[in-house]
Amino acid sequence: MLQKKSEKWAFEVLGSSGGRDGSRSTMCLYLPEGLLIDAGNVFVLPEEKLLNIQHVIVTHSHLDHFLDIPFLIDFSFSRREHSLNIYALNQTIEALRQYIMNWDVWPEFGSIRLSLTGEFAINYIPIEPYRTINILGYEITPFLSNHTVPTIGVIIRKNGRSMVYTSDTHRNPELWHFINRTNDIHVVLVDVSFPSYLSSLASASLHHTPSTLMEDLNILEDRDVKIYAVHIKPAFEEEVIMELAKLPRKVIPIVGRKTIWV
Ligand SMILES: [Zn+2]
Ligand SMILES: [Zn+2]
Repeated sequence: MLQKKSEKWAFEVLGSSGGRDGSRSTMCLYLPEGLLIDAGNVFVLPEEKLLNIQHVIVTHSHLDHFLDIPFLIDFSFSRREHSLNIYALNQTIEALRQYIMNWDVWPEFGSIRLSLTGEFAINYIPIEPYRTINILGYEITPFLSNHTVPTIGVIIRKNGRSMVYTSDTHRNPELWHFINRTNDIHVVLVDVSFPSYLSSLASASLHHTPSTLMEDLNILEDRDVKIYAVHIKPAFEEEVIMELAKLPRKVIPIVGRKTIWV
């Protein structure tokens, strides 16, 4: 079926917290039919969807953002026909190869061939900030976030409608100026990890609190953009949610799974 320009599209938040406990999982967005942005909570998908995941964009090298990749490739290895493509900054790819899938911690799937087709199980694809790539009909533009390791956020566009996911970030005024200039952005998912009284921890680890988010939101013009807070640390969830509710701009916290329309 032909999709009309400006027709809404949806993605699924599979994991949305900045840590894990019995009911919370870390960052993981699923875009039909087979693209993940971060891989913190993949195994809530049904088996046929798991086997169909072909592409993962990893925003940075912190554990909570790639956690399920080693298990996903292990799970699907004997049944998949195509490589799992991992898109990330060079520094992120280097960290995954050097510290995780290096034979010591987990098999080096980048050098193992799939039994069904002989393709490499994992295919690492370096991406660069501000260079747009096309995956499964999505136009994806990475941009630099403000975090302790090299980190990208992504702008994802389909049918002339876009969403932004900042991944882990502290203040990033340039992003909000960009959103002002880009009329087709309808949804923003932004990291708000800690309550404002932990501002020194937040600025040392380069995450937002509700008050630093508000400093950035003051840049945002009065437009119809839905702002969602993600990556809330489970230990401070109640406090962060209460603070967000008092902000002058509406910010919707996400805890757990959610389908979001763009
Ligand atoms: Zn991080
Ligand atoms: Zn994180």
